Amino acid sequence: MDDSLNFDTLAVRSGTVRTDYNEHSEALFLTSSFCFNSAAEAAERFKHSEDYYTYSRFTNPTVTMFQERLAALEGGEACIATASGMSAILSVVMAATQAGDHIVSSRALFGSTLGMFSQIFGRFGITTTYVDPNDLDAWRAAVRPETKLFFVETPSNPLTELCDIEAIGKISKAAGALFVVDNSFCSPAVQQPLKLGADVVMHSATKLIDGQGRVLGGALVGSRAFIMEKVFPFVRTAGPTLSAFNAWILLKGLETLSLRAERHSASALHVARWLEANPCVKRVYYPGLESHPQYEIARRQQRSGGSVLAFEVLGDTPEQQRENAWRVIDGTKLCSITANLGDTRTTITHPATTTHSRITAEARAAAGITEALLRVAIGLEDVGDICTDLGRGLQK
Ligand SMILES: *Cc1c(COP(=O)(O)O)cnc(C)c1O
Repeated sequence: MDDSLNFDTLAVRSGTVRTDYNEHSEALFLTSSFCFNSAAEAAERFKHSEDYYTYSRFTNPTVTMFQERLAALEGGEACIATASGMSAILSVVMAATQAGDHIVSSRALFGSTLGMFSQIFGRFGITTTYVDPNDLDAWRAAVRPETKLFFVETPSNPLTELCDIEAIGKISKAAGALFVVDNSFCSPAVQQPLKLGADVVMHSATKLIDGQGRVLGGALVGSRAFIMEKVFPFVRTAGPTLSAFNAWILLKGLETLSLRAERHSASALHVARWLEANPCVKRVYYPGLESHPQYEIARRQQRSGGSVLAFEVLGDTPEQQRENAWRVIDGTKLCSITANLGDTRTTITHPATTTHSRITAEARAAAGITEALLRVAIGLEDVGDICTDLGRGLQK
């Protein structure tokens, strides 16, 4: 599509390919395979399976439309969609590394990503060194001759810690590594890592891209050479492919992404300021607040603060902190007590006893996840109603 078109136009128009029926909305191709008119045509199409539709583990027109649209929005040359965010991470590591290789990763990671790097890839001889994402010397010092991949997630979960994509990208380039950025927390409406020096953007499309808590999906966006020559052969063969149905849902999600992201961010900033002014709140973490430790980085690399914030309630002992935090959760009538984020509905979690309960207390303390901490992913409800709801359990 025309390169001069802007984000909001690309979000609703790019990638669309119409059938002979000239349908206006994208067609949903629920078919596992595609037919041929002759044996010779079948042979030809199997030989060039990236250019033709043969079997939906390889390619599917609805999935292609989603891939083209997301690539356009991230400013990348090509995209391969996957069944979930985790299968996107699996695919990028399988595409870029082999036994004996080494990954340098931010230590501020989504729990399952950490589990995959440490417990699964480790078994196949791919080792990972974790570094403080904001300590650039630590990134440099962690590089080894066999380092093949750099991995970050920014902002991180649940403390919304940011790292400088451009600066880490330079270190990765000097190391000859592939720099992968998990952009699930922002989406391309808020942050475009490829423009800041990332080689590959990874998504859990389950989050803001669907945006309505319906389906799982994932994606990798990057150069045509890497995506088509390294990622596509793995996904086509191993089969962590996105289903056509989910691709169709996600295509529709992309059409409203920009509007939703704007509203999520505006409401999250409002709630963050409101929480900061509440005497029962000890501290608020939100990249859109001037008090955020990486506020300057946020201003440089994000269009807005995003939808996720975290805050600590008061309490002298861990027991009191947990009691106060749980009182906020149990006082809500509107917020959903669930771990999804980027959803139309506001969600609230107590990381120490849910998403981060399986790591040791020492590891939790090192990551700054106290019993007092709550994570809220702001939805699209009326922002006044969200504040009222969070405030119920904050009263003494
Ligand atoms: C949810 C999430 C993932 C995993 O995605 P799934 O779609 O659940 O597999 C990875 N990274 C981040 C930052 C996430 O929030």
